Amino acid sequence: MSSGGKKRALVTGGAGFLGSHLCERLLAEGYSVICMDNLRTGSLDNVAHLKDSDFEYVDHDVTTHIGVAGGLDEIYHFASPASPVDFERIPIPILKVGALGTYNSLGLARTKGARLMLASTSEVYGDPLVHPQREDYWGNVNPIGIRGVYDEAKRYAEAITMAYRRHHDVDTRIVRIFNTYGPRMRPDDGRMIPNFTTQALSGAPLTLYGDGSQTRSVQYADDLVEGVFRLMHGEEWRPVNIGNPTEYTVKEVAALILELSGSRSEISYKPLPQDDPKQRCPDITRARQSLGWEPRTPAREGLEATISWFKQRVGRVETPAGP
Ligand code: UDP
Repeated sequence: MSSGGKKRALVTGGAGFLGSHLCERLLAEGYSVICMDNLRTGSLDNVAHLKDSDFEYVDHDVTTHIGVAGGLDEIYHFASPASPVDFERIPIPILKVGALGTYNSLGLARTKGARLMLASTSEVYGDPLVHPQREDYWGNVNPIGIRGVYDEAKRYAEAITMAYRRHHDVDTRIVRIFNTYGPRMRPDDGRMIPNFTTQALSGAPLTLYGDGSQTRSVQYADDLVEGVFRLMHGEEWRPVNIGNPTEYTVKEVAALILELSGSRSEISYKPLPQDDPKQRCPDITRARQSLGWEPRTPAREGLEATISWFKQRVGRVETPAGP
């Protein structure tokens, strides 16, 4: 506890897309929050509005020793680039933050007697051969493929988290996050929803990889944060999928974004990236049973909010010249 009886939390990657939403939620719940980031993919813009609350920003790369003065109740280890374009651009920092960053965060949790949550991912299932994915599925990952740097880093992160739990009695939680979208994704993030949204809003063609028949199940950031908060404060220590089980083809997501943004952009087909999972959908039975959680935001609603956020940032919609 910090002075004043408040709970004190550290969020690594706190200036990132999900980390910043989490910081906001923790502050709303009355926490004292330390947001740690090295701004490799995060941005101070994401947390600028929090600076007048019980909020401290610390510029630090968690792949090096993490020192925090004073007590700490909870650590949310959310630091990591997470976009497939980053897997090619910065593979070694991704491996380091999954391995060394998790190791350092666990060491800090052990020293402070804090509960630690690892932000893991549906990518631990790789290109899944079981559908939908339950937590007891071990996955189908290509360890030497381009995506392997992220997938294996997170698989290692889960393994070391469990080792610290078994060997050092660190109190841990593991959330497996499925595709999540919302305000504060970087316009140049490279993932499906920011790409399609910025393309639709600027009148550029939507870049559809492959034939667009691959599926994803997309959840709104607020739903994820609710699941994370419940998981951290519940008893379930095994990995828990947090995702929206409503499954769309990538082509359907593109069509929905075109409709909701009122864009007349065309579709431009591009090659499917290596090891791109053909389908992905969470089985959320465990989250329902142990957390009483399920997503609440329909895709239309979440995408509308996201599109309007991007609209303020990427300027007005430029309608391409009609036929
Ligand atoms: N995708 C696409 N066009 C884009 C970006 C992504 O068709 O401009 C596809 C990608 O090939 C994948 C899906 O959308 O099948 C989701 O990709 P994303 O990068 O969001 O994350 P992933 O779920 O693959 O980790």
